[in-house]
Amino acid sequence: MVVPAIGATFRTPHLPTGLTKPKLRRFMEKVVIMGSGCAGLTAALYTARANLQPLVLTGLQPGGLLTTTTIVENYPGFPEGIDGFQLMGQMQKQAERFGARVKFATVEAVDLARRPLVLTVDGEPVETETLIIASGASHRHIGLASEHKLENKGVTYCATCDGALPMFRNQPLVVVGGGDSACEEAMYLTRFGSVVNLVHRRDTLRASKIMAERALANPKIQPVWDSVVTEVLDVEQDKVTGVRLKNVKTTAEKVIDCAGVFVAIGHLPNTQLFKGVIEMDEAGYIIPKRGTATNVPGVFVAGDCADRVYRQAVTAAGLGCAAAMDAERYLAARNE
Ligand SMILES: Cc1cc2nc3c(=O)[nH]c(=O)nc-3n(C[C@H](O)[C@H](O)[C@H](O)COP(=O)(O)OP(=O)(O)OC[C@H]3O[C@@H](n4cnc5c(N)ncnc54)[C@H](O)[C@@H]3O)c2cc1C
Repeated sequence: MVVPAIGATFRTPHLPTGLTKPKLRRFMEKVVIMGSGCAGLTAALYTARANLQPLVLTGLQPGGLLTTTTIVENYPGFPEGIDGFQLMGQMQKQAERFGARVKFATVEAVDLARRPLVLTVDGEPVETETLIIASGASHRHIGLASEHKLENKGVTYCATCDGALPMFRNQPLVVVGGGDSACEEAMYLTRFGSVVNLVHRRDTLRASKIMAERALANPKIQPVWDSVVTEVLDVEQDKVTGVRLKNVKTTAEKVIDCAGVFVAIGHLPNTQLFKGVIEMDEAGYIIPKRGTATNVPGVFVAGDCADRVYRQAVTAAGLGCAAAMDAERYLAARNE
């Protein structure tokens, strides 16, 4: 059930006289925000302060991706860094203080051809004048149990976020992947690690020529060809000490010692619901038309689900602010 907001727009049904079966009256939201990460909660803060009483639907990960990390050192305003979970809790409180309603619920389907827009949220219809999509992008996992157990204990999915942490300094590191992101992460990590092993399952990099050449020319990067990670070591010690690799051609196994495993095998934007309706690129990242507006009037986008380049907390928050302002202006123009 969607809890109606105090002051939310009320959509009055036009019942013909004599109708015996009463129709359900439904509230129409002004702004629904799909996602409660940095983008969604910043959009909530701005639209709440504009008195629009936004409804934030958290999805299965309230607070978004940042809740999975212990220390965030590059979000401005926290000179000592801040726990990701705590940061997101504070963002939510800040938005709620101005009237945002945060609900643990998932958008399951959308009908964006109708006016108002209609969302199916945990089986219930929700009508809204505007929608801000802030559903993020999930990182691809290798899929190993040991990888999962050692996440945040040396296994990470973001070199820009975690590379500078003390645990990785002057230590051997492993990057898994062979695309542009893997090359970029490997080059970035050469600033911190003693050596960076770039583990790729083929014998050439999939990255663009210029990125591949740059990475391979770096003396601190050692390619490990034709290899896949079969185990991250050492679950018993509860920290990363190395990786077990298998050569896909010879099936020979070997262990490389390392303090960190940076998995860079791609992201999957959480935009499948909008396929065929909202314009997106071949990887599923939404392509905004003007500012944060999508090709569907009243639908805006913010954060990692529309950003294949930066994918940072602060950029997601910035785009959340922009989407809120765009939605607010859209509503103001309609009500003039
Ligand atoms: C381990 C780790 C550490 C990181 N560390 C840093 C760091 O130190 N600094 C930094 O700047 N960045 C860091 N990042 C990146 C940062 O977390 C992301 O850039 C940021 O979270 C993106 O915010 P977002 O709001 O776009 O998406 P997300 O945070 O991914 O949030 C997406 C939201 O959408 C919701 N959702 C998805 N589908 C639905 C649906 N169908 N219905 C309703 N809701 C839905 C999810 O539940 C979630 O709440 C890190 C990422 C990871 C994984």
